[in-house]
Amino acid sequence: MRILLWYRNDLRLHDHEPLHRALETATHVLPLYCIDPRQFGQTQFGFAKTGPFRAQFLQESWADLRAKLRSHSSDLILRQGQPEDIIPALVKQHQIDRVYFYEEVTAEEIAVDQAVEAKLAQLGVKTEVFWGATLYHPDDLPFALGKLPDVFTRFRKQVEKVWAVYPPFPTPTQLPPLPEGVESGELPSLGGLGIEPPKADPRGVLGFKGGETAGLARLQHYLWDSDCLSRYKETRNGMLGADYSSKFSAWLALGCLSPRQVYAAVQQYEQERVKNDSTYWLVFELLWRDYFRFVCARYCDRIFYPSGIRGLKVDWQQDWDRFEAWRQGRTGFPLVDANMRELAATGVMSNRGRQNVASFLTKNLGIDWRMGAEWFESLLVDYDVCSNYGNWNYTAGVGNDARNFRYFNIPKQSKDYDPNGDYVKHWLPELGNLPAKKVHQPWTLQSVEQKRFGLTLGVDYPNPVVDLDKSVKANERRYNAALAQLP
Ligand SMILES: Cc1cc2nc3c(=O)[nH]c(=O)nc-3n(C[C@H](O)[C@H](O)[C@H](O)COP(=O)(O)OP(=O)(O)OC[C@H]3O[C@@H](n4cnc5c(N)ncnc54)[C@H](O)[C@@H]3O)c2cc1C
Repeated sequence: MRILLWYRNDLRLHDHEPLHRALETATHVLPLYCIDPRQFGQTQFGFAKTGPFRAQFLQESWADLRAKLRSHSSDLILRQGQPEDIIPALVKQHQIDRVYFYEEVTAEEIAVDQAVEAKLAQLGVKTEVFWGATLYHPDDLPFALGKLPDVFTRFRKQVEKVWAVYPPFPTPTQLPPLPEGVESGELPSLGGLGIEPPKADPRGVLGFKGGETAGLARLQHYLWDSDCLSRYKETRNGMLGADYSSKFSAWLALGCLSPRQVYAAVQQYEQERVKNDSTYWLVFELLWRDYFRFVCARYCDRIFYPSGIRGLKVDWQQDWDRFEAWRQGRTGFPLVDANMRELAATGVMSNRGRQNVASFLTKNLGIDWRMGAEWFESLLVDYDVCSNYGNWNYTAGVGNDARNFRYFNIPKQSKDYDPNGDYVKHWLPELGNLPAKKVHQPWTLQSVEQKRFGLTLGVDYPNPVVDLDKSVKANERRYNAALAQLP
């Protein structure tokens, strides 16, 4: 029996059900990754679908997976092209009996699955499709997917009652070698993919390195070496430094880390070190991740519509001048600008930052939330289609859990979460001389103060692009007009 294992967003050996099952029956396992040119195309609004930060992380993850497979006597077959062409060709060439892979839940990925399956069916080759990427398997949810609660809290309470998270599948110790005559293929450089390698920015929170090895090392660090997990609930809203939150998301997104591996490690930590609100809270956050994947599985394409899952036809603006100000971190609101500049320089932004910049884009600027979501898609090192579009639906107020018009008060958030202005000054050095009570609202500086602090508004740092109160009110009216049209 020869089984082709099609790797996608599951770039690891640990807790890998298709690999585990393949090894139970196959004499030969052929691990394959297809570098699909569509992954490196453009989004609807014209951004690179995979920007340089994630491209580098992805390339490092292929290299790591290949090294691991080689150390287990196997190899990673790398091919550039569309899976629906590459897989059937390999199947014919190497007399493969079955193809195993993890399923995805969103439109573009499903279209590829279907194209692969249709071509394999013509060859009489069966596929076996597995569910992964979440803590819970949909079959173990205490409700049918079609009855997924529309509010996260209700979802969480119901799943917590059953706590049906399986232990991880064991990591194989040995794999069969590739059959004779199978070429493993070259690992492309970023240049070879048409992407300019990003410059490492020393101001970044962490030097993210792709791959299972680095993902497991980060897990080891955050739990066992630093005990940061025991303080997670108190620190998780931070924005500066490597350890205010776990930073697992990038490895989770590409499957270099499995969420069940994280869950098992947290359970072990609770037994051996400490069990407290922080250890619970990390799992709570992983449940958000599960939730958005199930939301996507339930609502399919609606997550991408401008009107979102809720079908709310808000009159979103596509104002490119203001969007540019947001994207470049030049809105005149330091918390927004610092976060947007961090994203542009490193591909990383904290959860607190994401909520604020997304709220500002949609509730103050009234801009089409999909422009923001696509910019995140392009830049984020941890981009995950379900978490990204799910969170954007939620923040724009068009998600299934939308609670009408809610927005963040940016200066208040800035004062609450960055009281001394350390974060803002880290990314906006031009505000470096301002005292803490002025740095969150530089537009209130009188001209004598501007002179004293060596900052000329409108020259060294922009004047605000909007009036906070007026813009919120105008956008609330637009939003309520859309609400009034809902059946
Ligand atoms: C507008 C917007 C877009 C986002 N886009 C993404 C994205 O593309 N990919 C992504 O992984 N997360 C996304 N998030 C969620 C969240 O911001 C990140 O998961 C988090 O910042 C990652 O840092 P961390 O691993 O240190 O998180 P921690 O605070 O350590 O949380 C642990 C894990 O829980 C999960 N998690 C935490 N918060 C959320 C959440 N709100 N939604 C879903 N999962 C969560 C992540 O897997 C994370 O790694 C987005 C949030 C917003 C508001």
